[in-house]
Amino acid sequence: MTTSISSQQPRILIAEDEESFIDALTVGLSREGFVIEVAHDGLQALEMFESHHPDLILLDLMLPRMSGIDVCRTIRARSNVPIIMVTAKATEIDTVVGLEVGADDYVVKPFRLRELVARIRAVLRRTANSSSPSSSETNGEILEIGELRLDTKRHEVAMGSKIIQMPLKEFELLEILMRNAGNVLTRDMLIERVWGSDYVGDTKTLDVHIKRLRARIEADPTHPQLITTIRGLGYRFELPTRGK
Ligand code: CA
Repeated sequence: MTTSISSQQPRILIAEDEESFIDALTVGLSREGFVIEVAHDGLQALEMFESHHPDLILLDLMLPRMSGIDVCRTIRARSNVPIIMVTAKATEIDTVVGLEVGADDYVVKPFRLRELVARIRAVLRRTANSSSPSSSETNGEILEIGELRLDTKRHEVAMGSKIIQMPLKEFELLEILMRNAGNVLTRDMLIERVWGSDYVGDTKTLDVHIKRLRARIEADPTHPQLITTIRGLGYRFELPTRGK
């Protein structure tokens, strides 16, 4: 898939305090055509985000002076810049997700450069597609199921009168689920539609995003009524049992 985001080199801010990682990432990602800037602690990451306006932030969870979680939250409160969170353990992802810090994707150390590059490109492509309305001339559409309302043009989700903020990928996932309400969507299908066929991670990422979505839209996320799990298959957005 070739989209036209490669005319200028995307700038990536790496927030990382381990020198060996910084070196490897700088060399590897520069070779892939990205411009790399490095912040060595959380506060510096915030400052550099403000002054450098990177296209994407690769944010380590454990940083001196200010944690990756706080950095992510602070940035997310004022910007939709894509953020990929880097964690040392897979189990940390659940913690981070539980805190709803708003990262767009996660990678677990150690990771292969190829995997990271694929994720970076996928996140950048989605962002580029969604922020250039001229590229998709399709008119906006409003999906409404029960109290939940999703506006594809304004990229807005509301439950009743309450606006619900969510990162791009969760929005896309919700949109696909709502468009296919009443039908089971398999994990593979969802991953391909939201993350692209070049997605190289495991299906845990999908579950993590479903969990985040539920936390935002379900009255009781531990007993989901809207997005249900169909064991061994995937997920389904449930149609309301009464009315329309
Ligand atoms: Ca660290």
